[in-house]
Amino acid sequence: MRVLWFCIPAYGHTNPTIEVVRELVRRGHEVCYYSFEEFREKIEGAGAQFVACDAFLPPVDAKVERRLRKVSTTEMSVQSFRTVVNLDPLVTADVTSRRPDVVVSDSACFWGKLAAAKHGLPWVCSTTTFAFNEHSSKYMSHSVSELADILLGLPRLNREIRRLRPLGYHVRSALDIVRNKPDDNTIVYTSRTFQPCSETFDEKHYRFVGPSVRDVAPREKSGRPLVYASLGTVINDRPGFYRTLIDALCGTCVDLLISCGKAFDPAQLGEVSDNVRIEQYVDQMEVLSRASLFITHCGMNSASEGMWMGVPELLFPLTGEQRAVARRVAEVGAGKPLEESVAKDSAALRRAVLDALADERLREGSAQMRSDLRSCGGPAAAADFIEYVAHHHDAQRPAVHAC
Ligand code: UDP
Repeated sequence: MRVLWFCIPAYGHTNPTIEVVRELVRRGHEVCYYSFEEFREKIEGAGAQFVACDAFLPPVDAKVERRLRKVSTTEMSVQSFRTVVNLDPLVTADVTSRRPDVVVSDSACFWGKLAAAKHGLPWVCSTTTFAFNEHSSKYMSHSVSELADILLGLPRLNREIRRLRPLGYHVRSALDIVRNKPDDNTIVYTSRTFQPCSETFDEKHYRFVGPSVRDVAPREKSGRPLVYASLGTVINDRPGFYRTLIDALCGTCVDLLISCGKAFDPAQLGEVSDNVRIEQYVDQMEVLSRASLFITHCGMNSASEGMWMGVPELLFPLTGEQRAVARRVAEVGAGKPLEESVAKDSAALRRAVLDALADERLREGSAQMRSDLRSCGGPAAAADFIEYVAHHHDAQRPAVHAC
């Protein structure tokens, strides 16, 4: 079987796919993975053929860069539609010459999803966040500025959509692309328990395979508890928050490890006491194997990795999607919200951290989610499903309806 796999340039969307790719290759399938240089090593390491898409990303000036840093939905969609146009000649030529049996594309990767629809190929949606329909989308609470961005951006988006039509891509709206339809064949990297409104996704088309993570044996937790804090790899430029956390835990009986990201030099955070370490990037699974508490932005991967390792979480979401994940982690009892006002006050933050470390119910909730996530089918179930879609013609349908 030949698989064309498409993903956006983001760790959170790429990491969970790697073990599935490795499993497909192990079964003797050919996987051709369209991604970006930053991810080449990972993808080739899993045995796939890597195709670089870097040169097809639209140029980004300072204004666009600023909007993207603020995670503007409109700007991200505009850039995605332009990438569809730029990649069209390459993808069309490759589909014709490689004749794939199935296309797998990330739920946010417009160019993969639309290529499958344009060429009438069997398609599997790879969803690293929650499956997203009219019910589960109610979990996403948008801030006023996020809503304004979406509403004011509509005319711009419509202009971009009109440019796609002559190329054979028929799209109603950006929402039409990102929303899961009831009969979209979809892999979701979590459990049915964790997915909100899971009863609205049927068994035939939706496979909840659990987080696709590199497992690490938990270490014996003796001595000083380790608190690990990370705001992920995308919107992590929050030196003020890290500094408050450093002040909060300075001189306490816990160790603190912060992964602050690459947006600024950690030296900018100033002096730190002996119990604090700051890195720009860490092996998160290894750190979680010895952590007692995880302060997380609730990216779907980080939240899942914390639960996979049974580590209680303090939830500090920054976007609508992260707020949805945070709400669900709190609902299943594996984490507690960290209010913005508490995150700004070092004494209140110290209390919140120490309370969470002492919270027995939180530890139980995390242990329950650890077992739940580990009972899913994992990469083998995802690979089974991709094979099934490729081989069953009645499971095939275009990814996006024609207008
Ligand atoms: N990650 C890591 N080391 C770090 C920070 C992040 O390995 O220092 C990994 C983390 O394990 C996760 C991914 O990067 O798999 C981040 O994805 P997530 O969905 O949590 O957040 P995003 O970065 O997309 O906001």
